[in-house]
Amino acid sequence: MKNQKPLLIHVLAIIVAFLPLTQLTARQKVPITFNKYHGYTGTVDYLKKVAAAHPDITELIQIGTSALGRPIYVLAISNMKNGTTIDKHVKLENMRAENVKNVPPMKTHMGKPGHYISGATHGNEYTANELCLYIIDKLVSGYGDDKDITSLVDRVAFYICPIDNPDGVFNSVEMGIPQRSNSMYRDKNLEGTPVPNGLIPQFRYKHAEGEFVIDDADPRLMVRLRPNETTTKQRYRVITEYRDDAGNLRKGQLPSEGIDVNRNYPEGWWTEEGKPGGQGHYPTSSPEAHAIAEFFMNYRNILNANFYHTSGGFTYRPMGTAPNTAMHETDIAYYDFVMGRKYIEILGEQVPEEWLNPGRLEEFKASHRERGANKYVQARGYEFPYFWKSSYNERTDQRYGYGMVIDWLHAQQGIYALTTELWNPAKDIPGLKVEEGPERQLNLQRALLRHQDEKYNGSLFVKWKPFKHPEHGEGEIGGWRSIYSSNNAWPGEPLLYVCENHWKFELYRAGLLPDIRISQASARVIHTGTAGEPAVSYEGNIITLTKGKGAGRYRLVEVTATIENAGALPTQMARGTTLTNLREDVVWLVTDRKNVDFIEGSAWRRIGVLGGTTVVPGVIRGGNNKSEVKWMIGVKGDVPLKIVVTSQKGGTAVQELTIK
Ligand SMILES: [Zn+2]
Repeated sequence: MKNQKPLLIHVLAIIVAFLPLTQLTARQKVPITFNKYHGYTGTVDYLKKVAAAHPDITELIQIGTSALGRPIYVLAISNMKNGTTIDKHVKLENMRAENVKNVPPMKTHMGKPGHYISGATHGNEYTANELCLYIIDKLVSGYGDDKDITSLVDRVAFYICPIDNPDGVFNSVEMGIPQRSNSMYRDKNLEGTPVPNGLIPQFRYKHAEGEFVIDDADPRLMVRLRPNETTTKQRYRVITEYRDDAGNLRKGQLPSEGIDVNRNYPEGWWTEEGKPGGQGHYPTSSPEAHAIAEFFMNYRNILNANFYHTSGGFTYRPMGTAPNTAMHETDIAYYDFVMGRKYIEILGEQVPEEWLNPGRLEEFKASHRERGANKYVQARGYEFPYFWKSSYNERTDQRYGYGMVIDWLHAQQGIYALTTELWNPAKDIPGLKVEEGPERQLNLQRALLRHQDEKYNGSLFVKWKPFKHPEHGEGEIGGWRSIYSSNNAWPGEPLLYVCENHWKFELYRAGLLPDIRISQASARVIHTGTAGEPAVSYEGNIITLTKGKGAGRYRLVEVTATIENAGALPTQMARGTTLTNLREDVVWLVTDRKNVDFIEGSAWRRIGVLGGTTVVPGVIRGGNNKSEVKWMIGVKGDVPLKIVVTSQKGGTAVQELTIK
């Protein structure tokens, strides 16, 4: 019976493997469209429906609560029926007492490489939230239908947090008042009075020292004068005040009154003088940053992360709080030559010449030296392209900000962490016609207005109408409705275009994750002893029979295994190998310890960090992605033998062995 079981499983596996091709079709069990923003309420509703409709591949986890008490969710997406973790195979030696839940069993998806995607950290950047919903739909609807998606959901754990700043998104979308930060107090005036189309943010009035004039080509547009520019035209002053369509003022929570969650993380939070530089009273003082930080501390399997923001249409890789020289060059190579190159290709932009010819990097470095580029460019060998860069200002040698999450994840958690700034209206609106000419920004503004006239029936922009302001007197209210103004992808085609590009990017990045396998394993009898015979000791290649130990029948067994990382990325970043809170890969030989003596090799062994399969000539060498392991054991009677490889960020592999 014992021998038939694996065969039966094998046959079943073959049948199951062919099922998706013939029986399953693309299904959207939970319909979703992107014709309007979902906001916090719509997002939570969608997450709950998806989790209920796809219990086999999702788990909805509440990771914390916002300042105003709104739950923060992460949706885990992974095949919940496969995978394993080390604690399923090796009992904790020091088991916790009953009913003490501080060390709960690991979930099986925690034994797979983790890929984290975050939406709106800044409440008024809800395009990022929509992208997360788009990716969730692609993964759950594509599972069982699309081969690549299915295999990724089987082997990888996606953790998607569409909104890590619920209060900011709620106020920005549901209430129509853009709010970047979290909230520190609740404004009762706003409760229960949603303004789904966004409020009118602008009041313009004539003023002798006004900074604006009306555009000649499109009188709806206000054109800002350059410093010291003179004009014969009527000057206007434009102020921001959120009013509904009837002109009633709507007071809201202002951005400055909360904490910028992305300035509240432990890396680079202090100034060089040791004073607080980031926001909040201390790093992770906001409940939002606290929840995210705690999640990453618990889910040690995460190797990739992207915190999506708006706008600009480019990606920041670390670091922003420190110069490029603070990073390991191997990590830089994976960021720039692998991920950055692909990102720029997806956007359809020009990849830097140096990245296309990495073998000539020394030549490029010399050329940048001759041209007198800044010291960071000279050392690296290339200028950052607009679309992929660090936020550190290399020209002035100044940090971008304090306490940003991706710097913390990179430097303290060993995670390839990115911040992508979505939405570049000049590029991301299919069919937008911008006139050529020197006034690029003005032409773009005119084109945007025309486009919303044609494609949105003019609903994104409120025509100016007379209004008597209690303080400033006669003037007009009008302008872009708040939720469509400037920094978010318009719903419909533009939003879908942005989502599709970045879904491709995340699919590619998840596909890079390490992939631990046991490519070969065997257990072979070297020598058999019988009852009463002396036992065996083993040293090098010499087997010595000695007296005294061999009571009962025993076999001397050689166990070998080849452990391989078939993924493109190493099982830890170079930075990760220097961090004491991360560990190298480990292999266990799990067996009945009462009837097995470990003669050579211990029950668990460290095998270092396995490299990835990526080779980029001159910058990423490749190789070192295999480890050969051998044990010599003395076995009494029949014992189970199982090899378990546990890699913190590379996955878990198990193989049972039969002694031959
Ligand atoms: Zn942002």
